[in-house]
Amino acid sequence: METAKRIDAEKRKGKTLGRLAGVCVAVKDNICTKNVKTTCSSRMLANFVPPYNSTVIERLVNEDAIIVGKTNMDEFAMGSTTESSYFGPTKNPWDVSRVSGGSSGGSAAAVAVEEAIAAIGSDTGGSVRCPASFCSVVGLKPTYGLVSRYGLIAFANSLEQIGPITRDVYDCALLLNVIAANDPRDSTSVSIDHDDYTEQLDGIIKGLKIGVPKELMAEGTDERIVKAAWKAIYLLEELGASFGETSLPNIEYALPAYYLIAMSEASSNLARYDGIRYGYRAEGTIWSDVFSKGRKIGFGSEVRRRIILGTYALSEGYYDEYYMKALKVRTLIKNDFERAFEAFDVLIAPTMPLLPFKIGEKITDPLALYLTDIDTVSVNLMGGCAVSVPCGFIEDLPVGMQIIGKPFDEELILRVAHAFEQNTSHHQRKPKFTNKINS
Ligand code: GLN
Repeated sequence: METAKRIDAEKRKGKTLGRLAGVCVAVKDNICTKNVKTTCSSRMLANFVPPYNSTVIERLVNEDAIIVGKTNMDEFAMGSTTESSYFGPTKNPWDVSRVSGGSSGGSAAAVAVEEAIAAIGSDTGGSVRCPASFCSVVGLKPTYGLVSRYGLIAFANSLEQIGPITRDVYDCALLLNVIAANDPRDSTSVSIDHDDYTEQLDGIIKGLKIGVPKELMAEGTDERIVKAAWKAIYLLEELGASFGETSLPNIEYALPAYYLIAMSEASSNLARYDGIRYGYRAEGTIWSDVFSKGRKIGFGSEVRRRIILGTYALSEGYYDEYYMKALKVRTLIKNDFERAFEAFDVLIAPTMPLLPFKIGEKITDPLALYLTDIDTVSVNLMGGCAVSVPCGFIEDLPVGMQIIGKPFDEELILRVAHAFEQNTSHHQRKPKFTNKINS
């Protein structure tokens, strides 16, 4: 409210305001906000108050956006449902008995029910696109290096990027304009000039070549979702694009490679939570007891599982067999995409292979849950960009489709997403559950 008042006062005085003046933005709780708790939805960090802002927050605030709240997520962004949060799950606004997707489920649900105009999430293996799809909003995973990760609490840093979650493609482009920038504080941040992403939203996709990866439209995906994706592709064809089938032959190894790499990096990144420098501190006087007890109580079971598996994959004797092999598979997958992009401008596939499922349905079966990431993880492995847009409803539940682009092709995938959105009405539909305060 204070920020809003300041912006109003400045406006009255005729001062030039930032590009996001007065826009309410919700922020995933793994992105550091100065003097505001940043918990990663973990007991380990339940009382952590960062003394600094992440670069993304700084950039938003500099443009006069208003940070209205921190959003629920899977603990340390590990999950696809937001059920692994220490604070409980985020329900799906379209059907509150179902999951909102994850791990940025709180961000997507907040945008869907209009608690915020836009939100920020992070995507390590699909965590922006999955909840965007399940909550019928737009979610972008930017190219690796385009958005600074400074102040994003690390889960698997070779894979993750911060990305916008919004109600439409225009807002998504607007937010990307603000957050995409070089940052000397993040050594993986790239230095490239980008145009105003909103200027590319001209509806023109004549001559565009769409590749349809057959592996992502195959068995294992709900047939009704495959149909919805094809319907979208035919619509884009009517708008002047052409399409053809393509293949990503190594994608069958994407999930094991992703989970090996993500867990290995997680085991290393999460070693810092020892309860001594910071993090949950258990009772005791012997260092090793405090350390192991604190980590047992502070971390939930999914986080512990990943630390153990990741430590195993990195241990002597197994490193070559697991971690190194996963890195090699990552290169093969990257090559598959490069080959596909020689013939096609963008690729289109469902975002999720299934509809939002019931809370509690899969959380006890980690492998079944990991399988739901099949359509999203390969984009993180190859480092390119992808945007998920609403593409229909099945039994009143949202379906999302992703438009995948080569590295730094955000302008193009947003243009295609916008052309599709402007010729459909899915994004205008509102969920049954709306925020009582607003309505
Ligand atoms: N669902 C994936 C996982 O659990 C992706 C998570 C993410 O993108 N943060 O690892």
